[in-house]
Amino acid sequence: MLALITVPRAVRSGSTPWEPTLPKRSPEPASNRLIDCLPELQRQEFLSECRPAELQFGQPLGLPGDPIKKVYFPLTAFISRVTPIDRHPPLEVGLIGNEGMLGETLWLGQDRHPTQVLVQGSGTALEMSTAQFLRQLKANPSLAPIVSRYLFVLIEHLAQNAACHAFHELRERLVRWLLMTHDRAPGDHLELTHQFLSDMLGVRRSAVTIAASDLQYRGLIRYARGHIQILSRAGLEEITCECYAASVQAYERQFSDAPVPLCGHAGNSTDSRPAAV
Ligand SMILES: [Zn+2]
Repeated sequence: MLALITVPRAVRSGSTPWEPTLPKRSPEPASNRLIDCLPELQRQEFLSECRPAELQFGQPLGLPGDPIKKVYFPLTAFISRVTPIDRHPPLEVGLIGNEGMLGETLWLGQDRHPTQVLVQGSGTALEMSTAQFLRQLKANPSLAPIVSRYLFVLIEHLAQNAACHAFHELRERLVRWLLMTHDRAPGDHLELTHQFLSDMLGVRRSAVTIAASDLQYRGLIRYARGHIQILSRAGLEEITCECYAASVQAYERQFSDAPVPLCGHAGNSTDSRPAAV
């Protein structure tokens, strides 16, 4: 079932206009929006260099300072960017799904990972070696502008995340994180433990338990044994902070003219969802 575009409460009531112009699309076949932005001939050439990859939950893809050996374009998998600090668990600073890529800093001439990266959602991706990607950057004139736009979006997202972490309540941040994960997941069922959530959000597990219990009490999610089911996407959008919509808009400002519409997998939730961020 296809998802309709809805308007998060924070946008409806805020000063930033929301333009629900994204067309609906089928989640099949799986694709990556950055690759889909390429003109057809260049897209085919680029795809001929890619290999399919199966990414598994928890799989490490790099530590800060590690050389970038492979570039990934997620299809159904999604990847977390996390930053370790002192003796704390790593804090998540970004998510990469089929709207993005891993290895984008190669375009800046930087061949090492700026953050730790690991697989958060098992699934498929396209991969190519760093050398192949660098060759493509030279040979494929449409690729570099796409990577540049993606890098600009990442800067906006990092700034939004910093403000969100400093000023917004845990429940709002948890809901935003659930929506972002839901955007990238193949359905309404997310494999997430409270411990994993507390690590990603940088708070105590007990605090996540209280916030998640509140969402369950409101009928927005169902939680059991490391498994969260999204019951009401619209309800979650009603109570998340404005950062979720801001992140969606940041991406769409750069990629709304892409030839293939993006994002959002059509899950079984009766609610609709906007594009992934
Ligand atoms: Zn926020």
